[in-house]
Amino acid sequence: MSEGNGQPKKRFPLTLDLVTGLAGRRKADAAALNSRQTATQNAARHASSGRPLTAASRVHEMKPPPPAIDRMANMPLVSEAVRKAMVQRVAQQGVRDPLVLAALEQVPRHYFLEPGLAPQAYVDASLPIGYHQTISQPYIVARMIEVMREGVAGKLGRVLEIGTGCGYQAAVLAEVADEVYSIERIRPLHERARANLRPLRIPNLRLHYGDGMLGLPQCGPFDGIILAAAGLDVPQALFDQMAIGGRLVAPVGAGEQRLKLIVRTRRNEWIADMLEPCHFVPLRPGTFG
Ligand code: SAH
Repeated sequence: MSEGNGQPKKRFPLTLDLVTGLAGRRKADAAALNSRQTATQNAARHASSGRPLTAASRVHEMKPPPPAIDRMANMPLVSEAVRKAMVQRVAQQGVRDPLVLAALEQVPRHYFLEPGLAPQAYVDASLPIGYHQTISQPYIVARMIEVMREGVAGKLGRVLEIGTGCGYQAAVLAEVADEVYSIERIRPLHERARANLRPLRIPNLRLHYGDGMLGLPQCGPFDGIILAAAGLDVPQALFDQMAIGGRLVAPVGAGEQRLKLIVRTRRNEWIADMLEPCHFVPLRPGTFG
């Protein structure tokens, strides 16, 4: 999914091969500088150190990635302190829910990226994950979960995510809900998410391959539903899969997108509210792969 843009269409989302090589990474940086999201991103980078990036730290960031998928090799760049700083920036942008912020601090976002992108894992930005899809920006992940959880004191019961992608948001959701189901329509991404999540051994998360526009009626009703991809409106099938009192958060719109909140107040009553602007990859019908 992903947020942040204002980039010319042909540049977004960036393809994975564009950014995993050094030259490609320079292009990605340039593209990022053209994006609206980058305001947050640059502010975040600077806020993390309290001063602008020095030439030395930039060189450090541009180091070529380790040759193999050795996640431990990235550890110096993705320490807990770096993740904490990311969470602080998300909080500074207005996310207040302590359970959500704690969840963000728990999940190692670098596990969900190609090794070449791992050094950027704790920048508040969406990044490519292949198949023209992106890992969501940490702020929007936190914000959507916060909106979904509003009014709930402890953990949510059963939650559905549509658009697993690399599996990051699903892992965050598993920290704030008893049961999480996540659907992905692109089979290789579904499989990659499975592989990414395996070392984390999350017992309350189930991944499904299929068309999330149909929901997952056999597993509902859901106390919360989050869509990680934008349709013109919320797919009809999802309304009936909401529990009474359940809350759904989805990006909607064609050019201009906004977050939409739907609350099921009674068996036959739903209320809707339009929230802030956002930018996600499109919600598509059917499956691929
Ligand atoms: N949740 C991810 C973001 C993934 S990007 C994260 O944690 O970062 C959005 C994903 O939605 C893409 O992988 C895309 O393939 C998927 N998607 C789009 N339409 C879908 C549909 N109808 N059903 C399931 N997944 C869908």
